Amino acid sequence: MDVYIGIDVACAKDKYLPIVICTKDNNRLVPLPLTKHPASPPKGFGNAGTLQPELNIAYAKAAREYIELICHGYHLNPIRIGIDAPLKPRANHLQRRFAEQALDKTGISCFTTPSEQDFLKITAKGRAHLKAGKPVPNLPHAMQLWMLAGFAIADELSKLTSCIEVYPQATARYLGIADKHKTTKGQAEQQLHSISQYSGWPASADEWQQLSAICYGATHDKVDAYSAAWVASLPERQRVALGKPEHDDAIWVPALKAPQPTKEHQTFTESDAHTENAAYQRMCPACGEHNFKRWPFGWDAHAAHRCTGLTGHGTESRKAEFKKKFLSPP
Ligand SMILES: [Zn+2]
Repeated sequence: MDVYIGIDVACAKDKYLPIVICTKDNNRLVPLPLTKHPASPPKGFGNAGTLQPELNIAYAKAAREYIELICHGYHLNPIRIGIDAPLKPRANHLQRRFAEQALDKTGISCFTTPSEQDFLKITAKGRAHLKAGKPVPNLPHAMQLWMLAGFAIADELSKLTSCIEVYPQATARYLGIADKHKTTKGQAEQQLHSISQYSGWPASADEWQQLSAICYGATHDKVDAYSAAWVASLPERQRVALGKPEHDDAIWVPALKAPQPTKEHQTFTESDAHTENAAYQRMCPACGEHNFKRWPFGWDAHAAHRCTGLTGHGTESRKAEFKKKFLSPP
C-alpha cells in the first residue's frame, strides 16, 4: 500500500521527532496510530547537539530506519515525504531564498535560511560559546541551528523516496486560517478541521480521538506533521510551488487561492509611524525572538546589539547586514 509521510522537524532535547505516516483510503488520508507501535522515532539532541554534524547524521539515520521499520512491517510503500524545514541552506548569492521571497509577497512571515557560508560562522560562534562554558539556553542563533538537523533529515530521507519542503503556517494561510500563534489554544484543532475538509480525516468523533496517537509531540506538532503529510499526498496538479523548484528552492502549498497580504505586511509609510496599532507588529525576520511594535521602527538598535539572528560583528556591520537582508527593496 502507498503511504505519504509528514515530518515536523525539531531537535528539542529528548523529544521524539514527530513523524506521521498516512495511507490513502478511498481518497481519505488516514494516519497510522504510530504511538501504539513498540518502535519509536529518534529523540532530538538539543540545539547544542546540532553543532556536531555526526549527531545530525545519526538523528537522520534513526529517522530513516524508523520509517523503514514501519513500512517493511506493514508492506507500505512511501511515495513522498513532506518536510517542515528547509531541505538545504540558502544559495550563497541570494539575500533570501526564492521560496522566502515568494512567501514575502503573500505576506506570510518566515525566517531567513542561512547560507552555507553563514552556517560556518554560526556554528563557529556556537562552538566558541559552549567552549567558553556559557549556558546552552543562551546559545546564539538558536532559531537557525535546528535547520542543520533538517538538512541531514532531508539528505537521509531522500534515499527512501522524494522529499518536498512544506510550511504548515503557509498551508494554513492558503486554507484561509488567520495567522495566530500556533500554540494558541484551539488553533491546531481549527487547522486540522480545515485540512480535514480536503483530506477527509478526521471525519468522526472517534477519529478526532485518534489524533493523539498519530505521532509524538504536542497537539500542534501532530497537526503540523499531518499537514506536511497532506501536502505531500497531493498530486502535482493540486499543489503549487512557492519559489523555484528548478533551483531546488521551493515550498509547496495546496493549490488554493493565494492569501492576500494583511495590512501588517504592506509597505510601511511615514504616517503609519504615528499609529499605535497591532497591525504593524512584526516578529524579527532574523531571530524570531523580538517583536517589533511598529515594524521596522527600532530595527537599527535591535540589529546593532540584541538580534541573535545576524552573523556580523560590530554594530555597523550588523546593521548593514540587517538592512541588506530585510529592509532593501526586493
Ligand atoms: Zn532579531
